[in-house]
Amino acid sequence: MSRDQHRAAGVRSGTPFAARSAVELRRVTRVFGSGNAGVAALDDVSLSCPTGSWTAIMGPSGSGKSTLLHCAAGLDRVTRGQVLLAGNDITAAPDDVLTALRRHTIGFVFQGFNLIGSLTAEQNVAFPAKLAGARVSRDEVRRVLAGVGLADRARHRPRELSGGQQQRVALARAMLSRPAVLFADEPTGALDSGSARTVLELLRTMVTAAGQSVVMVTHDPAVAARADAVVFLADGRIVDRVDAPTVRDVAERLARWEG
Ligand code: ADP
Ligand code: MG
Repeated sequence: MSRDQHRAAGVRSGTPFAARSAVELRRVTRVFGSGNAGVAALDDVSLSCPTGSWTAIMGPSGSGKSTLLHCAAGLDRVTRGQVLLAGNDITAAPDDVLTALRRHTIGFVFQGFNLIGSLTAEQNVAFPAKLAGARVSRDEVRRVLAGVGLADRARHRPRELSGGQQQRVALARAMLSRPAVLFADEPTGALDSGSARTVLELLRTMVTAAGQSVVMVTHDPAVAARADAVVFLADGRIVDRVDAPTVRDVAERLARWEG
């Protein structure tokens, strides 16, 4: 085991599935800039996402959705408050601990996919794990690509793929390490309805069958309604929440907060 893996094991210490919350934000504020120019992208946000649950985050553009995901995943530091990930307080965790968590405990699907243009789909999927020094089996890579419906696109480069296919490559890459928590910023935003259904079924299986947790940003009430809970942000604050949502519940609240 590498030092890095040891550290990750120490960070995990059997907690991802034992911890009751996959993600917990306690009174989190994130200010960008300083003084009069400071913008509170998150303003005193408290949120708990139970282990083995699927949470959707909604809200107008600029309401703080991406900032919330980044802070919860340890990709960004909070200005005030506390962040717990799989039971571990990561608020002041050193960078190497956060790096280990990113490699072993979380998966992240970015809004802009962040694929590497010179690498094929399968190379993109394997890249973060290889970068971390892990041995990656081609079968495993092919398995996750097949899982997102891209078995026949493994050797294509991003420019040879549609936006929806690129988004699914990014999802496969985030799922390769079987993360305890998968964060996804609009994972179905570029997908046609058939691909969106494939991805949503995959996410549901992760949550129900594998006990993984999903925290996802979406603008689509039909997508949000697949989650166990929907949280609404406005101006950096949580303004509403619906558990066991229906599409109609979500659409009504959305009209209220975006209207
Ligand atoms: P959303 O994802 O809901 O569209 P964001 O979390 O991206 O919103 O942004 C929330 C607010 O924080 C916006 O006012 C945005 O301009 C600001 N913001 C986000 N990231 C940065 C940054 N790196 N530097 C300065 N301001 C930022
Ligand atoms: Mg965003």
